[in-house]
Amino acid sequence: MKLYSTNHQSPDVDLKEAVFRGLPQDNGLYMPYNIPRLPDSFFQNIEQLSLQEMAFEVAAALIQDIPKERLKKIVYDTLAFEVPVLNVHDNIYALELIHGPSHAFKDFGARFMSRLMSYFLEQDKREINILVATSGDTGSAVAQGFYQAPGVKVTILYPSGKVSEIQEKQLTTLGHNVTALEIQGNFDDCQRLVKTAFLDTEVTKHVNLSSANSINIARLIPQSFYYFYAYAKLKHIGKPLVFSVPSGNFGNLCGGLIAQRMGLPVYRFIAATNANDVIPRYLKTGQFEPKQSAQTISNAMDVGSPNNFPRLEEIHDKEFAKMTANIVGKSYDDTQTTETLNTVFQEYGYAMCPHTAIAYRGLNEFLKEEGKNLVGVFLATAHPAKFLDVLDEKIAKAVVIPENLQQVMKKQKESILMSNRYEDLKTFLLA
Ligand SMILES: *Cc1c(COP(=O)(O)O)cnc(C)c1O
Repeated sequence: MKLYSTNHQSPDVDLKEAVFRGLPQDNGLYMPYNIPRLPDSFFQNIEQLSLQEMAFEVAAALIQDIPKERLKKIVYDTLAFEVPVLNVHDNIYALELIHGPSHAFKDFGARFMSRLMSYFLEQDKREINILVATSGDTGSAVAQGFYQAPGVKVTILYPSGKVSEIQEKQLTTLGHNVTALEIQGNFDDCQRLVKTAFLDTEVTKHVNLSSANSINIARLIPQSFYYFYAYAKLKHIGKPLVFSVPSGNFGNLCGGLIAQRMGLPVYRFIAATNANDVIPRYLKTGQFEPKQSAQTISNAMDVGSPNNFPRLEEIHDKEFAKMTANIVGKSYDDTQTTETLNTVFQEYGYAMCPHTAIAYRGLNEFLKEEGKNLVGVFLATAHPAKFLDVLDEKIAKAVVIPENLQQVMKKQKESILMSNRYEDLKTFLLA
């Protein structure tokens, strides 16, 4: 796989370099030169394939850097959990990406990236230290994804007292190669500490640091797999397909766009956001205006400067008209989100997390606007059990808490309490 930077000021790289660098030095994003179209025969027989089988075909078409058998193992191990496609009502379906170890869709990216990195590290016989700041979901997916990965140590920085109890337990109870630093500060402090460490040559000389940032190409690729799977499950209906994606940094939606580029027939994507509506606004006005993020109950989408925007542009050949013909923007505030959570539970008995509710609402509105001849899929991105505190009591009571989350809650938290001064992190990293 050969990749370029969207800013065109950094050299081209292969997959391995893109994965370990994360970001090109020119601050662009890595994009593959070639996103191949899959053969018609693949789509003709797709309903006969399992998720793992079709994902392997997709991965093998994109990635030539890894022997086929090994790539197959990486893909199969990544996808070792259920991905149900459920009919919620009428022509509306949920694609549930919430049954991985951390119960958020970020499991797909984190699990694929960790296995890819372990493969490359094995080749070079080296070790790396993943350093990541988290406000919640990313940290637990990364921690779970890299748990016991050969050659990898993981250090997670999280703001003390500012993540939910269940999220904190997910971060602090794994042990082995995962260390949680509980920072006396906020999420911005955690991010600043991580950035400072990456720029500190005294540290990077001694410690092989790597990030698990959400813009990493290794997190993007597996986020295309499940779009094919939803298509395969609903192909028999014979109607054009709409995907509604609850979005923050737009990595998940980019996965869908890659699938579409590879030939997946998609009628329209819905970019569904909370009050942080930079992209829906852009789709209306043509002006991309990042701003400070606003806090909402769908906090994993509280992004004021969506960092995959250059990839959205690139995939649509930087043509605004192409993008607006393909993506519809929808945004909802917390009141609307809560209303939707309650209505869908009352009418159809379906419990969702707040992010998922936004995607549902965007889809439902769009299907009504467009008429009936479509089938719609909304992506369920986190298990409602992770957001019990923002759900109505009736819904919260009905949610079955997954077994591994129940186990995690019983475990003893183990973290290292640390100030928000860089010197303390440096001492820790060099120890
Ligand atoms: C990260 C996240 C999102 C947003 O995904 P992006 O790829 O950043 O757009 C949506 N829902 C949940 C639950 C998440 O954790």
